[in-house]
Amino acid sequence: MKSAAFEYHAPETVADVSLLLAEHGDDAKLLAGGQSLVPLLAMRLTRFPHIVDLNRVAELRGVERQNGTLTIKAMTRQSDAEHDATVAAAAPLIAQALPMIGHFQIRNRGTVGGSIAHADPASELPAVALALDAELEAARAGSTRRIPAAEFFEGTWTTTLEPEELLTAVHVPVWEGRCGFVVDEVARRSGDFALAGVVCAVELNEAGAVRRSAIGLFGMGSTPVRARDAEAALNGSTPTATELAEVARLAAAGCSPTDDVHASAEYRTHVGAHLVQRALDRALGEARSG
Ligand SMILES: Cc1cc2nc3c(=O)[nH]c(=O)nc-3n(C[C@H](O)[C@H](O)[C@H](O)COP(=O)(O)OP(=O)(O)OC[C@H]3O[C@@H](n4cnc5c(N)ncnc54)[C@H](O)[C@@H]3O)c2cc1C
Repeated sequence: MKSAAFEYHAPETVADVSLLLAEHGDDAKLLAGGQSLVPLLAMRLTRFPHIVDLNRVAELRGVERQNGTLTIKAMTRQSDAEHDATVAAAAPLIAQALPMIGHFQIRNRGTVGGSIAHADPASELPAVALALDAELEAARAGSTRRIPAAEFFEGTWTTTLEPEELLTAVHVPVWEGRCGFVVDEVARRSGDFALAGVVCAVELNEAGAVRRSAIGLFGMGSTPVRARDAEAALNGSTPTATELAEVARLAAAGCSPTDDVHASAEYRTHVGAHLVQRALDRALGEARSG
C-alpha cells in the first residue's frame, strides 16, 4: 500500500523544525530513519497531513563525551553509534544493545533518537536509557529541556514529549571503575523484537561488594521497566548464586507483561527472571575480572 497524501517538509536546522512543529502541532509527524514510521504510514495504520523530515538537520548528528557524560545526538544512525569507539568505551550497554536492533539494513537507517522517541516497550535502547538514568533533551521554539528517562516513557509508543517538541539528544552518565555490563534477550529469531530482554550494569567497591547496580527490562510491560527493588537488594552485597536468583525473581515480579500472540505473560516472567540472573552473573564476573 501507499501512504495517504501529506505535505513534505525538509528543514535544515533545529530552529526550522521547531517552527514547523509550532505551526502544525498534532498534524505534523517527525521522520527520522523511517524504520517504524514508514511502514505505519504505508499500511495506513496512521496518517499525518505534514511530515517533517529530520534527515537534513546536520546539527542533530554526532557523538561526544564530556565531563562524565556521553551525548548521542538524536539523528545519529544506529549503525554509526554501533561502530563508534567513544560509545563503546563510555556506554558499553549501548554498544551491546545496538546490534540487537533488527538487521544491519535497519540500523543503517534507524536512528538512536528515533528508537527512543518511538518508545516501543520491546526495544533495547529505551531500557538502556532508563537503567542508566539518561536525560533526553527536547527542543521547542525558543527553549530546550532535559527529561529524565524515568519521566519520559509513558506507555506503549507514548512519551512525555509534547507535540511541539523534538528529541535532540540523549545524555548518558558514564560509569567508571570496576564495572560489568550485559544486555541479554530472548527473541524468536535473530533480528526480531525481544520476547523478553534485560540490561544490567554493576559496579564493585574495593572490597568486591556491589557499590551500585542498574537493571532494566524490556518486552515486560507497556514501558521499559527499572527493577529498583532488585537493585536495592543487590547493592551493598557480595551475592551468592541463591541470592542472585532471589534478586532476579524480584526484578521479574516488578514487571507487568501481557499475553500476546508471541508469548504468554507467565512465559515472559519466567524468561525475564532467568535473563536477569544470567546477566547479573556475567556482569559481576566481568566486574571482578576487570
Ligand atoms: C524488521 C524490523 C525489525 C526491528 N527490530 C527492532 C528491534 O529488535 N529492536 C528495536 O529497538 N527496534 C527494532 N526495529 C525498529 C527500528 O529500530 C527503528 O529504527 C526505530 O524503532 C525507530 O527509529 P527510526 O529512526 O527509524 O524512527 P522513525 O521510524 O522515523 O520514527 C519513529 C517514531 O519516532 C518519532 N521520532 C523520530 N525521531 C524523533 C525525534 N528526534 N524527536 C521526536 N520524535 C521522533 C517519529 O515521529 C515516529 O513517531 C525494527 C524495525 C524493523 C522494520
